[in-house]
Amino acid sequence: MTRLHVFFFPLMAQGHMIPTLEMAKLFSSRGVQATVIATPGFVTPVENTRKSGYNIGIHVMKFPPENSELPDGITSLDQMNSDDMISKFTKALELLQEPFEKLLEEYHPDCLVADMFFPWATDAAAKFDIPRLVFHGTSFLSLCISEHVRIFKPYKNVSSDSEEFVLPNLPHPLKFKKTQIPNFDDAGIENDFAKLLTKIKESETRSYGVLVNSFYELEPDYADHFRKVLKRNAWHIGPLFLSNKGEEEDKAQRGKESAIDKHECLEWLNSKEPNSVVYICFGSIATFTSKQLHEIANGVEISGQKFVWVVRKGKDEDQNENWLPEGFEERTRDKGLIIRGWAPQLLILENKAIGGFVTHCGWNSTLEGVCSGVPMVTWPIFAEQFFNEKLVTEVLRIGVSVGSKQWKRVASEGVEREAIALGIRRIMEGEEGAEMRKRAQEYKEQARMAVEEDGSSYTDLSALLQELIA
Ligand code: UDP
Repeated sequence: MTRLHVFFFPLMAQGHMIPTLEMAKLFSSRGVQATVIATPGFVTPVENTRKSGYNIGIHVMKFPPENSELPDGITSLDQMNSDDMISKFTKALELLQEPFEKLLEEYHPDCLVADMFFPWATDAAAKFDIPRLVFHGTSFLSLCISEHVRIFKPYKNVSSDSEEFVLPNLPHPLKFKKTQIPNFDDAGIENDFAKLLTKIKESETRSYGVLVNSFYELEPDYADHFRKVLKRNAWHIGPLFLSNKGEEEDKAQRGKESAIDKHECLEWLNSKEPNSVVYICFGSIATFTSKQLHEIANGVEISGQKFVWVVRKGKDEDQNENWLPEGFEERTRDKGLIIRGWAPQLLILENKAIGGFVTHCGWNSTLEGVCSGVPMVTWPIFAEQFFNEKLVTEVLRIGVSVGSKQWKRVASEGVEREAIALGIRRIMEGEEGAEMRKRAQEYKEQARMAVEEDGSSYTDLSALLQELIA
């Protein structure tokens, strides 16, 4: 019998590429011939994976594509710092259809797993009679909520930005404010995005189904709701990174080259007591104003806790670092580590010294937090992060909200130092923190069991593979 051949086509963004590559590794370890379609900016992580012993194929596709309005040198979504650039980026994604179809025609895989941001992929695959699976890279809960928001537009019925409203017909009465939900109905770029979202949803309903990087025990109500109420075919196969029992080097190299020597970082952590350090990181895309970075520094200092803080705004962009309070690094020399750039997040979170996580609630980070068994301070910024926050704080009750109120893609601000310090203290100290940690540890254990043989995610992937083979 010939092996099943699956194409994996990720979006050019760390938060999508990392789990897609993990998915390719997982499928490969289950006997599938896996091929990743990589654009030039993401060849290195695929090649690193191949070097570490995974038999994964790679096809490189030019990006930006021919006739794109994007300047050369653009490789990924995190470089988009204006609405205009984002608009050009999404148009460039559409231009990939033609070269991608040539690959499908030439190699004719048995199945295509393509990122949600390629809604045309369902039709492209159908031309060659290939089933297309969609990968969103988010939680069941946020898949359910975003569909409700898209259809019912509940924010239209509120009279003010501060008025809270409950999303109807969901397993929990979750409350939001208008400012926390992306309003893509306004004119301009957001309108382009609304059209793209509609295309995404249409292509999803016509696709073979949806792959979800989550596990059933984490969000059973939403996994059921997505399948039974929203009538989607879905397979939960996560947490993807747990299925790959990678070596330290493999974990250190996820995504980008680390801005800190992993030994230096781990040595520093190893010198600290268990559960005594809070890890602060906001993913690969979100940016803050200097004013907000200043508030974070002050908040962390007021909290009195030890910390590892990842700051994306590197020295190159702001030579004088005017956001750092005077003498901050001298005063916190023994207490804290600032990583300017890319951190080896998985290795850090897995270290015993880490006792809490301040996160922007990107789904990968949220899941990595869950699997580390630490309580979280939730600080959503944009995308579907405000939805994931509710899972952590209200459904799982393993975190506290910092009180972020404004959905904003770039230059986020508005959270004050007192709220930051209070959030950190609540997860790191006292009974409330201890209870959240206990619950988080239980989810950590369940996550590990889900990916073991006969676990819920393992079994769901087996079912999918059997179906595809049949
Ligand atoms: N990440 C990392 N180092 C960093 C920042 C992020 O390794 O300095 C990884 C993180 O572990 C996660 C991914 O990048 O796997 C970010 O994905 P997420 O969905 O959390 O957020 P996004 O970047 O998409 O907003």
